[in-house]
Amino acid sequence: MARAGIDARLARLPAESRPLIECLGRVLREDVYAERDNPPFDRVCMDGVAIRSEAFGGGLRHFTVEATQAAGTPALTLSAADRAIEVMTGAMLPRGSDCVIPLEEYEMSASVVSLKDGVSGEPYRNVQRRGSDSEPGVPLLRAGALIGPPEMGVLASAGKAHVSVSRQPGFMVLSTGDELIEPGQPIEEHQVRRSNAYAVVSGLRKNGFSAVDDDHIADNEDMMRGRLARHLAEHDVLVLSGGVSKGKFDLVPKVLKALDVEEVFYQVAQRPGMPMWFGVGPRGQAVFGLPGNPVSTLMCLMRYVVPAINVAMGMQAAASTERIALAGPIKRGRPMASFVPVSIQLESDGRRSAVPRMPNGSGDFLALAGTDGFVELPPREEAYPVGFVAELYRW
Ligand code: AMP
Ligand code: MG
Repeated sequence: MARAGIDARLARLPAESRPLIECLGRVLREDVYAERDNPPFDRVCMDGVAIRSEAFGGGLRHFTVEATQAAGTPALTLSAADRAIEVMTGAMLPRGSDCVIPLEEYEMSASVVSLKDGVSGEPYRNVQRRGSDSEPGVPLLRAGALIGPPEMGVLASAGKAHVSVSRQPGFMVLSTGDELIEPGQPIEEHQVRRSNAYAVVSGLRKNGFSAVDDDHIADNEDMMRGRLARHLAEHDVLVLSGGVSKGKFDLVPKVLKALDVEEVFYQVAQRPGMPMWFGVGPRGQAVFGLPGNPVSTLMCLMRYVVPAINVAMGMQAAASTERIALAGPIKRGRPMASFVPVSIQLESDGRRSAVPRMPNGSGDFLALAGTDGFVELPPREEAYPVGFVAELYRW
């Protein structure tokens, strides 16, 4: 429900044209068609000689080599049925020929090729026909595709020097809390390391978001208002951690509202992560107030923020979620959706399953180290048996 609420309020991020080399990991925003037929000509796919299959069919087994056709040169023409043209992989099939006999299947002496016994010479042997790899009018890639190495190759083959992709949203990751101390700084007993910002920034970077800055805000209303105003002006997505519970110094919802960030929801029936807040700024900025407990923060980031921003970027695959079966039981039913850290285990038959790794509560983020992600267990009265299939979110 919360996810749907976020998707309903997030506008599609604008598209921009980027040089091809910068497009790895971006979401495609245009359908891409072939520049030409694929292959663009009848293409030789073995080194050998090109002959006329009709001549072979008529019983001819000796051919005089009259020329060489390399890749990257216009098609030569075979002059007669008893002639052959030496051809290289990737070359155009010479005009007047329609069959390529590979090197290993003949002997050559004084420019005469003699085919070995048992060689076949049917039409278009070892020739990739012009246009056989793509259908005219059917896009090679569709808008919404995530651009990985194969897609980069396809875009290049279509002659695209610039590609329409989603603009990368500018993220601002904000930790809040007077108790938080940067790694490397001296720390007192009552203080806590500012670990969330590092986990959140890394979670975003790992998911392909490159424009990610971070800042820290103390639990002071005036200070928070000033800093949030500036960050709202300069970024598309704010990811806050802490300050969203009901304590006296949990100022985030109040300050955001004062800055005209419209509250879309506050609190989600889930464990951990119940106090989560989500709102939309005056320019359509997405503002996620994640609970401060480090386990909740990271789970809410992966459960809500990353998929929602992927959808806002137009990513088709973001709509579907991975599912996995439990490798161990979870003994008691739970009254609301719950997130359980898991390690993914590979069974001997190649199937994967999820081994639950229960933390000591939502503050025990040390337990997350070494896990692959978490599963979401739906509310139910009974226990969750081995084999129970749940949605999987990876770190
Ligand atoms: P809060 O939601 O601000 O009440 O924080 C809940 C708990 O999470 C408290 O124990 C905080 O000290 C802790 N916490 C909040 N933010 C962070 C952070 N950035 N890094 C580590 N722990 C945090
Ligand atoms: Mg706090």
